[in-house]
Amino acid sequence: MRSGWLTTGPRAAAFEREFAEFVGGADGEVEAVAVNSATAGLHLALEAAGVGPGDEVVVPTWTFTATAEVVRYLGATPVVVDVDRATLNLTASGLEAAITDRTAAVIPVHFAGLPVEPAVRRLAHERGLRVVEDAAHSFPAHDGRTAVGAGDSLATVFSFYATKTITTGEGGMVVTRDPDVAKRVRTMRLHGISRDVFDRYRSTAPSWHYDVVAPGYKYNLTDPAAAMGRVQLRRADAMRKRREQIATRYTEALAGLPLDLPPVGEDGTQHAWHLYVVRLRDDAPVDRTAFIEQMASRGVGCSVHFIPLHLQPYWRDSLELRPEQLPVATAEFERVVSLPAFSSMTDAQVERVVETVATVLR
Ligand SMILES: *Cc1c(COP(=O)(O)O)cnc(C)c1O
Repeated sequence: MRSGWLTTGPRAAAFEREFAEFVGGADGEVEAVAVNSATAGLHLALEAAGVGPGDEVVVPTWTFTATAEVVRYLGATPVVVDVDRATLNLTASGLEAAITDRTAAVIPVHFAGLPVEPAVRRLAHERGLRVVEDAAHSFPAHDGRTAVGAGDSLATVFSFYATKTITTGEGGMVVTRDPDVAKRVRTMRLHGISRDVFDRYRSTAPSWHYDVVAPGYKYNLTDPAAAMGRVQLRRADAMRKRREQIATRYTEALAGLPLDLPPVGEDGTQHAWHLYVVRLRDDAPVDRTAFIEQMASRGVGCSVHFIPLHLQPYWRDSLELRPEQLPVATAEFERVVSLPAFSSMTDAQVERVVETVATVLR
Protein backbone atom coordinates (compact mmCIF):
# COMPACT_ATOMS: atom_id res chain seq x y z
CA MET A 1 0.00 0.00 0.00
CA ARG A 2 2.83 2.39 0.87
CA SER A 3 4.48 1.84 -2.53
CA GLY A 4 1.62 3.75 -4.13
CA TRP A 5 1.01 1.04 -6.76
CA LEU A 6 -2.65 0.33 -6.15
CA THR A 7 -3.37 -0.91 -9.66
CA THR A 8 -1.29 -3.22 -11.89
CA GLY A 9 2.40 -2.55 -11.42
CA PRO A 10 5.72 -4.15 -10.46
CA ARG A 11 4.22 -6.69 -8.04
CA ALA A 12 1.82 -8.02 -10.65
CA ALA A 13 4.79 -8.40 -13.02
CA ALA A 14 6.81 -10.20 -10.34
CA PHE A 15 3.87 -12.49 -9.51
CA GLU A 16 3.59 -13.40 -13.21
CA ARG A 17 7.30 -14.27 -13.45
CA GLU A 18 7.24 -16.31 -10.25
CA PHE A 19 4.04 -18.14 -11.20
CA ALA A 20 5.39 -18.97 -14.67
CA GLU A 21 8.55 -20.37 -13.13
CA PHE A 22 6.59 -22.37 -10.56
CA VAL A 23 4.46 -24.01 -13.27
CA GLY A 24 6.91 -24.22 -16.17
CA GLY A 25 10.33 -24.38 -14.55
CA ALA A 26 13.22 -22.06 -15.18
CA ASP A 27 13.43 -22.58 -18.97
CA GLY A 28 11.33 -19.45 -19.52
CA GLU A 29 9.05 -21.04 -22.14
CA VAL A 30 5.89 -20.69 -20.09
CA GLU A 31 4.44 -17.21 -19.78
CA ALA A 32 1.87 -16.14 -17.18
CA VAL A 33 -0.55 -13.22 -17.48
CA ALA A 34 -2.34 -12.07 -14.32
CA VAL A 35 -6.06 -11.26 -14.48
CA ASN A 36 -8.74 -10.36 -11.94
CA SER A 37 -10.53 -13.74 -12.06
CA ALA A 38 -10.32 -17.13 -13.72
CA THR A 39 -13.58 -16.29 -15.47
CA ALA A 40 -11.84 -13.29 -17.07
CA GLY A 41 -8.87 -15.51 -17.93
CA LEU A 42 -11.05 -18.16 -19.60
CA HIS A 43 -12.80 -15.43 -21.58
CA LEU A 44 -9.50 -13.92 -22.75
CA ALA A 45 -7.95 -17.30 -23.57
CA LEU A 46 -10.93 -18.28 -25.75
CA GLU A 47 -10.84 -14.84 -27.37
CA ALA A 48 -7.13 -15.31 -28.12
CA ALA A 49 -8.00 -18.74 -29.55
CA GLY A 50 -10.25 -16.99 -32.05
CA VAL A 51 -13.50 -18.56 -30.78
CA GLY A 52 -16.54 -16.66 -32.08
CA PRO A 53 -20.12 -16.91 -33.35
CA GLY A 54 -20.95 -20.22 -35.02
CA ASP A 55 -18.27 -22.11 -33.08
CA GLU A 56 -18.94 -24.92 -30.63
CA VAL A 57 -16.86 -25.39 -27.50
CA VAL A 58 -17.02 -28.68 -25.59
CA VAL A 59 -17.33 -28.37 -21.80
CA PRO A 60 -18.07 -30.96 -19.11
CA THR A 61 -21.42 -30.65 -17.35
CA TRP A 62 -19.59 -31.26 -14.04
CA THR A 63 -18.29 -27.73 -13.51
CA PHE A 64 -19.06 -24.22 -12.32
CA THR A 65 -21.13 -22.07 -14.68
CA ALA A 66 -18.11 -19.83 -15.47
CA THR A 67 -16.64 -22.58 -17.70
CA ALA A 68 -19.63 -22.35 -20.03
CA GLU A 69 -20.64 -18.70 -19.67
CA VAL A 70 -17.39 -17.47 -21.23
CA VAL A 71 -18.29 -19.40 -24.39
CA ARG A 72 -21.51 -17.38 -24.55
CA TYR A 73 -19.60 -14.10 -24.02
CA LEU A 74 -18.00 -14.75 -27.42
CA GLY A 75 -21.25 -15.66 -29.14
CA ALA A 76 -20.26 -19.32 -29.43
CA THR A 77 -22.20 -22.38 -28.21
CA PRO A 78 -21.15 -24.59 -25.31
CA VAL A 79 -21.61 -28.30 -26.00
CA VAL A 80 -22.18 -29.86 -22.60
CA VAL A 81 -20.98 -33.45 -22.21
CA ASP A 82 -21.15 -36.13 -19.51
CA VAL A 83 -18.20 -37.13 -17.33
CA ASP A 84 -16.38 -40.21 -16.09
CA ARG A 85 -18.13 -41.87 -13.15
CA ALA A 86 -14.95 -42.37 -11.12
CA THR A 87 -13.20 -39.02 -11.62
CA LEU A 88 -16.14 -36.76 -12.62
CA ASN A 89 -13.79 -35.43 -15.33
CA LEU A 90 -14.27 -35.08 -19.08
CA THR A 91 -13.01 -38.12 -21.02
CA ALA A 92 -11.50 -38.55 -24.48
CA SER A 93 -14.47 -40.71 -25.53
CA GLY A 94 -16.90 -38.08 -24.26
CA LEU A 95 -15.06 -35.41 -26.23
CA GLU A 96 -14.90 -37.56 -29.36
CA ALA A 97 -18.64 -38.16 -29.38
CA ALA A 98 -19.30 -34.41 -29.15
CA ILE A 99 -17.04 -33.27 -32.02
CA THR A 100 -18.80 -31.77 -35.06
CA ASP A 101 -17.69 -29.64 -38.03
CA ARG A 102 -18.22 -26.59 -35.85
CA THR A 103 -16.18 -27.68 -32.82
CA ALA A 104 -13.44 -25.10 -32.29
CA ALA A 105 -12.21 -25.76 -28.77
CA VAL A 106 -12.55 -27.81 -25.60
CA ILE A 107 -12.30 -26.71 -21.96
CA PRO A 108 -11.23 -29.65 -19.76
CA VAL A 109 -11.84 -29.05 -16.04
CA HIS A 110 -9.52 -30.81 -13.57
CA PHE A 111 -12.29 -31.44 -11.06
CA ALA A 112 -11.33 -31.26 -7.37
CA GLY A 113 -7.67 -30.99 -8.43
CA LEU A 114 -7.32 -34.38 -10.15
CA PRO A 115 -5.83 -33.87 -13.65
CA VAL A 116 -7.96 -34.84 -16.67
CA GLU A 117 -6.62 -37.86 -18.59
CA PRO A 118 -3.91 -36.74 -21.09
CA ALA A 119 -5.81 -38.58 -23.87
CA VAL A 120 -8.23 -35.61 -23.96
CA ARG A 121 -5.44 -33.23 -25.00
CA ARG A 122 -4.01 -35.74 -27.46
CA LEU A 123 -7.38 -36.25 -29.15
CA ALA A 124 -8.03 -32.51 -29.26
CA HIS A 125 -4.70 -31.92 -30.99
CA GLU A 126 -5.31 -34.75 -33.49
CA ARG A 127 -8.66 -33.20 -34.37
CA GLY A 128 -7.32 -29.65 -34.61
CA LEU A 129 -9.19 -28.34 -31.57
CA ARG A 130 -7.82 -25.63 -29.34
CA VAL A 131 -7.51 -26.60 -25.68
CA VAL A 132 -8.09 -24.11 -22.87
CA GLU A 133 -7.74 -25.85 -19.52
CA ASP A 134 -9.91 -24.74 -16.61
CA ALA A 135 -7.40 -25.26 -13.81
CA ALA A 136 -9.41 -23.42 -11.16
CA HIS A 137 -9.08 -26.47 -8.86
CA SER A 138 -5.70 -27.76 -9.87
CA PHE A 139 -2.88 -25.70 -8.49
CA PRO A 140 -0.43 -27.18 -7.98
CA ALA A 141 -1.09 -30.46 -9.80
CA HIS A 142 0.71 -32.89 -12.10
CA ASP A 143 -0.65 -35.64 -14.35
CA GLY A 144 2.43 -37.85 -14.03
CA ARG A 145 4.01 -36.47 -17.18
CA THR A 146 3.31 -32.75 -17.09
CA ALA A 147 2.49 -30.16 -14.45
CA VAL A 148 -0.98 -28.71 -15.06
CA GLY A 149 -0.23 -25.53 -17.01
CA ALA A 150 3.11 -26.69 -18.44
CA GLY A 151 1.65 -28.80 -21.26
CA ASP A 152 0.90 -28.06 -24.89
CA SER A 153 -2.58 -26.58 -24.48
CA LEU A 154 -3.26 -23.17 -25.98
CA ALA A 155 -3.70 -21.84 -22.45
CA THR A 156 -4.36 -22.97 -18.88
CA VAL A 157 -6.32 -20.76 -16.51
CA PHE A 158 -5.95 -20.76 -12.71
CA SER A 159 -8.23 -19.15 -10.12
CA PHE A 160 -7.23 -17.26 -6.99
CA TYR A 161 -10.80 -16.83 -5.75
CA ALA A 162 -11.17 -16.80 -1.95
CA THR A 163 -11.92 -20.53 -1.64
CA LYS A 164 -9.30 -21.82 -4.08
CA THR A 165 -5.96 -23.46 -3.27
CA ILE A 166 -4.08 -20.16 -3.33
CA THR A 167 -5.89 -16.85 -3.20
CA THR A 168 -5.67 -13.16 -3.90
CA GLY A 169 -9.27 -12.58 -2.77
CA GLU A 170 -10.27 -12.36 -6.41
CA GLY A 171 -7.80 -13.13 -9.17
CA GLY A 172 -6.59 -15.52 -11.83
CA MET A 173 -3.69 -16.40 -14.12
CA VAL A 174 -3.53 -17.34 -17.78
CA VAL A 175 -0.54 -19.55 -18.54
CA THR A 176 0.62 -20.32 -22.08
CA ARG A 177 3.65 -21.36 -24.16
CA ASP A 178 2.40 -19.37 -27.13
CA PRO A 179 3.87 -15.82 -27.17
CA ASP A 180 1.07 -14.60 -29.47
CA VAL A 181 -1.59 -15.83 -27.05
CA ALA A 182 0.20 -14.17 -24.13
CA LYS A 183 0.45 -10.91 -26.07
CA ARG A 184 -3.22 -10.94 -27.05
CA VAL A 185 -4.34 -11.71 -23.48
CA ARG A 186 -2.12 -8.89 -22.16
CA THR A 187 -3.63 -6.44 -24.60
CA MET A 188 -7.26 -7.50 -24.09
CA ARG A 189 -7.08 -7.60 -20.30
CA LEU A 190 -6.57 -3.81 -20.29
CA HIS A 191 -8.88 -2.07 -22.79
CA GLY A 192 -7.09 -3.36 -25.88
CA ILE A 193 -4.22 -1.00 -25.13
CA SER A 194 -0.95 -2.21 -26.56
CA ARG A 195 1.19 -1.24 -23.55
CA ASP A 196 0.02 -1.45 -19.97
CA VAL A 197 0.26 1.33 -17.42
CA PHE A 198 3.41 0.04 -15.79
CA ASP A 199 5.18 -0.21 -19.14
CA ARG A 200 4.20 3.36 -19.90
CA TYR A 201 5.60 4.47 -16.57
CA ARG A 202 8.87 2.62 -17.09
CA SER A 203 9.46 3.03 -20.80
CA THR A 204 11.54 5.74 -22.46
CA ALA A 205 8.85 6.39 -25.11
CA PRO A 206 6.59 9.41 -24.40
CA SER A 207 4.64 8.35 -21.31
CA TRP A 208 1.35 9.78 -22.56
CA HIS A 209 1.24 7.68 -25.71
CA TYR A 210 -0.71 4.46 -26.13
CA ASP A 211 -2.44 2.61 -28.95
CA VAL A 212 -5.92 1.12 -28.68
CA VAL A 213 -5.85 -1.85 -31.02
CA ALA A 214 -9.12 -3.59 -30.04
CA PRO A 215 -12.20 -3.07 -27.82
CA GLY A 216 -10.67 -4.83 -24.82
CA TYR A 217 -11.81 -5.51 -21.27
CA LYS A 218 -10.96 -4.38 -17.73
CA TYR A 219 -9.54 -7.61 -16.38
CA ASN A 220 -6.16 -6.61 -14.87
CA LEU A 221 -4.98 -7.85 -11.44
CA THR A 222 -4.07 -5.15 -8.88
CA ASP A 223 -0.69 -4.95 -7.15
CA PRO A 224 -2.15 -5.41 -3.63
CA ALA A 225 -3.78 -8.63 -4.87
CA ALA A 226 -0.54 -9.72 -6.57
CA ALA A 227 1.41 -9.05 -3.36
CA MET A 228 -0.93 -11.46 -1.57
CA GLY A 229 -0.49 -13.95 -4.42
CA ARG A 230 3.30 -13.89 -4.17
CA VAL A 231 3.18 -14.83 -0.50
CA GLN A 232 0.57 -17.53 -1.18
CA LEU A 233 2.72 -18.93 -4.01
CA ARG A 234 5.62 -19.52 -1.63
CA ARG A 235 3.28 -21.56 0.57
CA ALA A 236 1.53 -23.42 -2.27
CA ASP A 237 3.48 -26.71 -1.98
CA ALA A 238 3.25 -26.81 1.80
CA MET A 239 -0.49 -26.10 1.73
CA ARG A 240 -1.01 -28.79 -0.93
CA LYS A 241 0.90 -31.30 1.20
CA ARG A 242 -1.32 -30.49 4.16
CA ARG A 243 -4.48 -30.97 2.08
CA GLU A 244 -3.08 -34.27 0.84
CA GLN A 245 -2.46 -35.33 4.43
CA ILE A 246 -6.06 -34.48 5.29
CA ALA A 247 -7.32 -36.40 2.26
CA THR A 248 -5.20 -39.42 3.18
CA ARG A 249 -6.56 -39.35 6.72
CA TYR A 250 -10.16 -39.10 5.49
CA THR A 251 -9.66 -41.97 3.06
CA GLU A 252 -8.22 -44.15 5.81
CA ALA A 253 -10.76 -43.18 8.49
CA LEU A 254 -13.91 -43.22 6.34
CA ALA A 255 -13.28 -46.64 4.74
CA GLY A 256 -15.93 -49.03 5.97
CA LEU A 257 -18.70 -46.44 5.98
CA PRO A 258 -21.39 -46.52 3.25
CA LEU A 259 -19.44 -44.00 1.14
CA ASP A 260 -17.55 -44.06 -2.14
CA LEU A 261 -14.28 -42.21 -1.57
CA PRO A 262 -12.55 -40.01 -4.15
CA PRO A 263 -10.00 -41.39 -6.66
CA VAL A 264 -6.36 -40.41 -6.10
CA GLY A 265 -5.14 -40.82 -9.70
CA GLU A 266 -2.51 -43.16 -11.12
CA ASP A 267 1.06 -43.41 -9.82
CA GLY A 268 2.92 -40.17 -10.37
CA THR A 269 -0.22 -38.04 -10.24
CA GLN A 270 -0.06 -35.02 -8.01
CA HIS A 271 -3.61 -34.21 -6.88
CA ALA A 272 -4.17 -30.60 -5.77
CA TRP A 273 -6.88 -31.75 -3.33
CA HIS A 274 -8.88 -28.55 -3.69
CA LEU A 275 -11.95 -30.61 -2.75
CA TYR A 276 -12.54 -33.89 -0.95
CA VAL A 277 -15.77 -35.24 -2.46
CA VAL A 278 -17.45 -38.35 -1.07
CA ARG A 279 -20.54 -40.06 -2.47
CA LEU A 280 -23.27 -41.60 -0.35
CA ARG A 281 -24.00 -45.20 -1.28
CA ASP A 282 -27.49 -46.73 -1.52
CA ASP A 283 -26.99 -48.49 1.82
CA ALA A 284 -26.37 -45.19 3.65
CA PRO A 285 -29.11 -44.49 6.25
CA VAL A 286 -29.69 -40.93 4.95
CA ASP A 287 -29.75 -39.27 1.56
CA ARG A 288 -27.38 -36.49 0.52
CA THR A 289 -29.62 -33.61 1.53
CA ALA A 290 -30.38 -35.09 4.97
CA PHE A 291 -26.68 -35.91 5.42
CA ILE A 292 -25.64 -32.28 4.85
CA GLU A 293 -28.42 -31.06 7.17
CA GLN A 294 -27.38 -33.43 9.94
CA MET A 295 -23.69 -32.54 9.54
CA ALA A 296 -24.62 -28.84 9.76
CA SER A 297 -26.73 -29.39 12.87
CA ARG A 298 -23.61 -30.93 14.46
CA GLY A 299 -21.54 -27.91 13.44
CA VAL A 300 -19.81 -29.27 10.32
CA GLY A 301 -20.45 -27.34 7.11
CA CYS A 302 -20.44 -29.37 3.90
CA SER A 303 -21.20 -28.39 0.32
CA VAL A 304 -21.99 -29.79 -3.13
CA HIS A 305 -19.65 -29.47 -6.12
CA PHE A 306 -21.29 -29.20 -8.53
CA ILE A 307 -24.90 -28.87 -9.49
CA PRO A 308 -24.24 -30.01 -13.08
CA LEU A 309 -24.72 -27.39 -15.79
CA HIS A 310 -27.52 -29.35 -17.45
CA LEU A 311 -29.60 -29.12 -14.26
CA GLN A 312 -29.26 -25.32 -14.09
CA PRO A 313 -32.33 -23.57 -15.54
CA TYR A 314 -30.45 -21.35 -17.99
CA TRP A 315 -28.28 -24.09 -19.52
CA ARG A 316 -31.05 -26.71 -19.41
CA ASP A 317 -33.46 -24.44 -21.27
CA SER A 318 -31.16 -22.60 -23.68
CA LEU A 319 -29.33 -25.77 -24.76
CA GLU A 320 -32.43 -27.99 -24.47
CA LEU A 321 -30.67 -30.52 -22.27
CA ARG A 322 -32.53 -33.44 -20.70
CA PRO A 323 -31.15 -35.32 -17.67
CA GLU A 324 -31.23 -38.67 -19.55
CA GLN A 325 -28.70 -37.27 -22.04
CA LEU A 326 -26.12 -36.95 -19.26
CA PRO A 327 -26.86 -40.02 -17.12
CA VAL A 328 -23.61 -40.22 -15.14
CA ALA A 329 -23.63 -36.63 -13.88
CA THR A 330 -27.39 -36.77 -13.28
CA ALA A 331 -27.02 -39.82 -11.02
CA GLU A 332 -23.80 -38.78 -9.27
CA PHE A 333 -25.17 -35.32 -8.46
CA GLU A 334 -27.72 -36.93 -6.13
CA ARG A 335 -25.04 -38.42 -3.89
CA VAL A 336 -22.02 -36.06 -3.81
CA VAL A 337 -20.88 -34.17 -0.72
CA SER A 338 -17.74 -32.06 -0.29
CA LEU A 339 -16.28 -32.46 3.20
CA PRO A 340 -14.28 -29.61 4.81
CA ALA A 341 -10.68 -29.81 3.56
CA PHE A 342 -8.41 -26.78 3.77
CA SER A 343 -4.77 -26.42 4.70
CA SER A 344 -5.29 -24.59 8.00
CA MET A 345 -7.49 -27.40 9.42
CA THR A 346 -6.07 -28.85 12.60
CA ASP A 347 -5.78 -32.60 13.21
CA ALA A 348 -8.48 -32.22 15.87
CA GLN A 349 -10.84 -30.62 13.35
CA VAL A 350 -10.16 -33.41 10.86
CA GLU A 351 -10.96 -36.02 13.53
CA ARG A 352 -14.11 -34.15 14.46
CA VAL A 353 -15.30 -34.31 10.83
CA VAL A 354 -14.51 -38.04 10.73
CA GLU A 355 -16.45 -38.70 13.95
CA THR A 356 -19.38 -36.59 12.83
CA VAL A 357 -19.61 -38.40 9.47
CA ALA A 358 -19.50 -41.73 11.30
CA THR A 359 -22.23 -40.60 13.72
CA VAL A 360 -24.54 -39.41 10.95
CA LEU A 361 -24.03 -42.61 8.94
CA ARG A 362 -24.48 -44.95 11.89
C1 LIG B 1 -14.03 -21.03 -9.19
C2 LIG B 1 -14.15 -21.61 -10.56
C3 LIG B 1 -14.10 -20.82 -11.71
C4 LIG B 1 -14.11 -19.33 -11.66
O1 LIG B 1 -13.05 -18.78 -10.97
P1 LIG B 1 -13.09 -17.20 -10.61
O2 LIG B 1 -11.66 -16.88 -10.30
O3 LIG B 1 -14.01 -17.05 -9.45
O4 LIG B 1 -13.58 -16.49 -11.82
C5 LIG B 1 -14.09 -21.44 -12.93
N1 LIG B 1 -14.17 -22.77 -13.05
C6 LIG B 1 -14.24 -23.58 -11.97
C7 LIG B 1 -14.30 -25.05 -12.18
C8 LIG B 1 -14.26 -23.03 -10.69
O5 LIG B 1 -14.39 -23.83 -9.63
